[in-house]
Amino acid sequence: MKRSISILGATGSVGEQTLDLVRRNAESWKVTALTANSNVAELARAAREFRADIAVVADERYLGDLRDALAGSGIEAAAGRAALCEAASRPVDITMAAIVGCAGLGPVMAAIEQGGTIALANKEALVSAGEVMTAAVAKHGATLLPVDSEHNAIFQCLQGGEIGDVRSITLTASGGPLRMIEDLSAVTPEQAIAHPNWDMGAKISVDSATMFNKGLELIEAHHLFPLKLDRIRIVVHPQSVIHSLVEYRDGSTLAQLGPSDMRVPIASCLAWPARMDTPMEPLDLPAIGEMTFFAPDEVRFPATRLAREAAEAGGAAPAVLNAANEIAVAAFLDRKIAFSRIAVLVENVLNQNDLPDAPRTLEEVLRVDEDARRRATRILEPV
Ligand code: NAD
Ligand code: MG
Repeated sequence: MKRSISILGATGSVGEQTLDLVRRNAESWKVTALTANSNVAELARAAREFRADIAVVADERYLGDLRDALAGSGIEAAAGRAALCEAASRPVDITMAAIVGCAGLGPVMAAIEQGGTIALANKEALVSAGEVMTAAVAKHGATLLPVDSEHNAIFQCLQGGEIGDVRSITLTASGGPLRMIEDLSAVTPEQAIAHPNWDMGAKISVDSATMFNKGLELIEAHHLFPLKLDRIRIVVHPQSVIHSLVEYRDGSTLAQLGPSDMRVPIASCLAWPARMDTPMEPLDLPAIGEMTFFAPDEVRFPATRLAREAAEAGGAAPAVLNAANEIAVAAFLDRKIAFSRIAVLVENVLNQNDLPDAPRTLEEVLRVDEDARRRATRILEPV
């Protein structure tokens, strides 16, 4: 029998790699909804190829273009945030949540409220919503499967024992393209985006360069796996062969290894709890030759420290950290601020002494997010 899938953020790096796997097993899948922000041409092309029921573009200005591009196909066209959530709430066997940023939170929550299975790539949504999301997952009997390669690795290694027997988990970090660069203030967007091991969207590539990606992943891990923050470690592993590790109380450490290709963790979610074929070459350890490990340098890259502090503070802090980082990354990509100011801006916003209270509902999370974006923008563009 065919399984149904909706892909939120279908035109992005994770979305396209998901479609690649669906294409290779086309007879096994029925595509329900595909969404994008503004890339109508690619969205319509994919919707036609995969005979989706509905295609949604988040930016309402593109509704006319999307209708034109889908004319005669019988595929529904819709636009705007409400349409995005409506499409995400259509029942499917699995939802791939691959929108970037807190913009994906509403649709993810809409899918969770259906009690479905959600393959979560959109870490910013979980970082911002935290317990609001995990409580909704529990309330509606939904299942979150981690797509992020580190969390997917930990999820797989946790099959090897009881969570109560886990001593620690270790997230590996490539260290990004700037680990060896001395003067971080002069780094250009092109340098920051050129990731040595992974081919990803612009925002997460900058996050990898600042190490905010690992900071967000620390908070993500804290919500996905019931472990105290002091049991979650980070180690720099430039080859990105080991995707993460779980240490049990008997001294056994389990690791998941594989190529730096997101189709591996995506396939693990799509087939879960079974396995499926992917076009990966077998792991060639002699060709890899060496694996090295370093402690993160939190003086040059303060992001993981800031994330740990925000997670310890709890309340609104993780959502504030995420929102300020989103504004800072956009400003850096627009060449408005230097690379080294990203972390400074995030820290400045986090240090404001009148931050909002802990959000308890989706609406409150979205208000905290909005508020923190305004605070960050005000620092960038003082009136
Ligand atoms: P991307 O920029 O390549 O794609 C983002 C997708 O989201 C696109 O389809 C875009 O149209 C859509 N989108 C962007 N802004 C939107 C908005 N305001 N409203 C609705 N839709 C919007 O990003 P990506 O690299 O595929 O990453 C997606 C998510 O997966 C991120 O949260 C990222 O951290 C996470 N992730 C990505 C990778 C990777 O290898 N790319 C690995 C791990 C986790
Ligand atoms: Mg990751």
